[in-house]
Amino acid sequence: MTKEILFCKKCHIYTLEKACPKCNEKTISPKPGKYSPIDKYGAYRRIHKKQILKIT
Ligand SMILES: [Zn+2]
Repeated sequence: MTKEILFCKKCHIYTLEKACPKCNEKTISPKPGKYSPIDKYGAYRRIHKKQILKIT
C-alpha cells in the first residue's frame, strides 16, 4: 500500500489523511496533468472570494 498525498479543495492543503484534518472534508488526490490543480483551485478561490465580497 502506497501512501498517497491527498488534497483538501476546501482548505487548499495537502494531507495524507482521507479526511481533511482541518475541516473533515473528504480529500481528493491531486492528479498531475495538463493543468495544475493548485492553480485551478486558486483561480476558483479568487472568483469565490470576489463573489463573497460582492454579496456582503
Ligand atoms: Zn479542509
